[in-house]
Amino acid sequence: MESSTNRNAITHSTLHSAPSPRPLPQGGGEGKGEGAEWEKSECVRNVYIIAELRKGCITQETYELVRFARLIGKGQKPVFLLLGRNVEKQAREISQKTRCDTLVVIGDHLEHYNALSYAHTLMEILQERAASWLCLPHTSMGYDLAPRVAALLKAACITGVESVGDGFLGRPIHSGRFVEEIVPDTSRVVVTVLPGAFRAYEETTGPAGGVKVIRAAFIKVPSQTLGVVESVHRDSALKDAEVIVSGGRGIGEKENVSLIKTLAARFPRSAVGASRSACDLGWFERKQQIGTTGQTVSPKLYIACGISGAFQHVSGMRGAQTVVAINTDIHAPIFQVAHYGIVEDLETFIPLLIEATHRTPLFR
Ligand code: FAD
Repeated sequence: MESSTNRNAITHSTLHSAPSPRPLPQGGGEGKGEGAEWEKSECVRNVYIIAELRKGCITQETYELVRFARLIGKGQKPVFLLLGRNVEKQAREISQKTRCDTLVVIGDHLEHYNALSYAHTLMEILQERAASWLCLPHTSMGYDLAPRVAALLKAACITGVESVGDGFLGRPIHSGRFVEEIVPDTSRVVVTVLPGAFRAYEETTGPAGGVKVIRAAFIKVPSQTLGVVESVHRDSALKDAEVIVSGGRGIGEKENVSLIKTLAARFPRSAVGASRSACDLGWFERKQQIGTTGQTVSPKLYIACGISGAFQHVSGMRGAQTVVAINTDIHAPIFQVAHYGIVEDLETFIPLLIEATHRTPLFR
């Protein structure tokens, strides 16, 4: 099992959707190339990855799906599906980086993500293929699109997966305190994978994968996406920071935000982040929120203060090189992803830590 989390110590809840679980559907053969060669190779493969574009670039979360796809496909290469307009360049990037084949579906109406256009186009493409597995990142696009495609394909839809076990998929539930083990009971399965659960995949040897372009027929849907405008609530400082100190509901009151800010200020190239609950309480600005509905960050050091570690938060900071958690609850799920855990009241510990930095030459 490959996953960045370690929940060995946690009780596993088991929820099998089938009375007698079937083995996970298997990936098929492998091949590459274009034209007839492509047809031959693609038709025997059955693990597909829906590539995601953000500001015209393939997202990191897309590349993280390759390891997951290879696990469920028993080592076989998945096929990427990229929808858009003028996206052949990005398709070549995928094929060069991963050595996997990419099927590009182009259309003017696919320029911007629209749940209905994308879902219906995917259904058209996939219903005539032996696609058993359809993998998407568990991002705003992924968890919006996955259930719609699953409903159209009459497939099982399993969202927020973080691991592949022996014949089951694992996903965190109850704020990460338990892992639910799920076995699909359909021949087709749509899965979303939590960002950061698998390392991004790049392969440097062997020929690049093939790229095949097909034009999607226009499908009339009730809404049209005209464009995408970046939210003013994004804090680019978080993206560039090497150290992020984040506060959660456990800071107790707004006055304690100064503790978080003072600690962050002790590090060069630092920024202040927050959990959604702490933002909801008005203690931090919305642009500081980290997680599935906030920002995804990957600093060298992430210090989580009074944050329980719900998977929606962890999804946004799993990429951090080192995670330190300060929490009074020894069972808080954040300790499952922390490299260093401090079980202590943050109002006691953070002032001591700040004081210690003043005595340490490294911080002078
Ligand atoms: P809590 O879960 O209340 O945890 C507070 C923690 O502080 C506890 O573990 C407690 O032990 C600890 N604590 C209390 N007092 C102290 C003290 N004095 N010293 C030290 N520790 C203390 N959340 C996000 O963060 N980001 C998202 O992007 C996000 N998106 C979401 C999207 C959806 C669709 C949904 C449903 C939820 C989303 N959430 C998100 C919310 C998420 O599920 C959690 O509710 C939230 O992350 C909890 O925030 P918290 O850890 O600050 O608060």
